[in-house]
Amino acid sequence: MIKIRDVSKSFDGVKVLDGLDLDIPRQSVVTVIGPSGSGKSTLLRILDVLEQADSDTVDFGDGPIDLTSTNKADIHAIRSRIGFVFQSYNLFANKTALQNVTEPLIYAKGIKPDEARRTALEQLDRVGLADLADRYPSTLSGGQQQRVGIARAVAVNPELLVLDEPTSALDPEMVTGVLEVIKQLGRDGMTMLMVTHEMRFAYEASDRVVFIEGGHVVEQGDPKQIFEHPRERRTAEFLSSTN
Ligand code: ATP
Ligand code: MG
Repeated sequence: MIKIRDVSKSFDGVKVLDGLDLDIPRQSVVTVIGPSGSGKSTLLRILDVLEQADSDTVDFGDGPIDLTSTNKADIHAIRSRIGFVFQSYNLFANKTALQNVTEPLIYAKGIKPDEARRTALEQLDRVGLADLADRYPSTLSGGQQQRVGIARAVAVNPELLVLDEPTSALDPEMVTGVLEVIKQLGRDGMTMLMVTHEMRFAYEASDRVVFIEGGHVVEQGDPKQIFEHPRERRTAEFLSSTN
């Protein structure tokens, strides 16, 4: 179990996250849903130390790590355990798909170039892009670029993969391929924390759905319970507003 505890964050005196707790069972897919501005991206950014929390710890089972730390070694330690897939693909434009996946293996993990290349090709194959390994991002579709981004995040073998609306920047016809890749990762046992506005996908791909609003968890449960029998009125209201 990965335990995230007491996440608080204010911007300009406004509390966005207010002592939020979250458990992510290993090898499960946890999806966070909630209204725009409810702090979903902020939560994920805090986990990747792109945003500094006012308070927060994450515990992978070997003791809590303080995410408010600005210590470079702590930040490196946490980033080496969490992979991040952004809404926009964040690929290096001047590097091929293969080089994009290979880079973090060589520079963050210290893996030898030959082996890094082998691993990167395996990961590109896994997301259905082995044939396009030598293409530059500008020659790939949005969906293909996002799949390179996923291959890159997964290649370093993170304990937790965090995805912030991985399909929201894509044309509708590109969404399915990316969702399939994410579903397959879930079936392969990757532990994932995801934010999505695609309720159908949340329903199908998640083991657990967490509804957040007002800085904390309002309700969580298995997808069937949350989507078909929400216990809280706010959850029901939110879900009916998304249809
Ligand atoms: P969406 O569903 O629209 O993506 P979200 O749940 O991801 O929304 P966040 O992006 O986490 O919401 O933002 C939560 C709140 O914090 C918003 O009110 C936002 O304006 C505010 N916020 C986020 N980042 C900053 C920042 N760097 N400076 C000031 N306010 C910020
Ligand atoms: Mg967001």
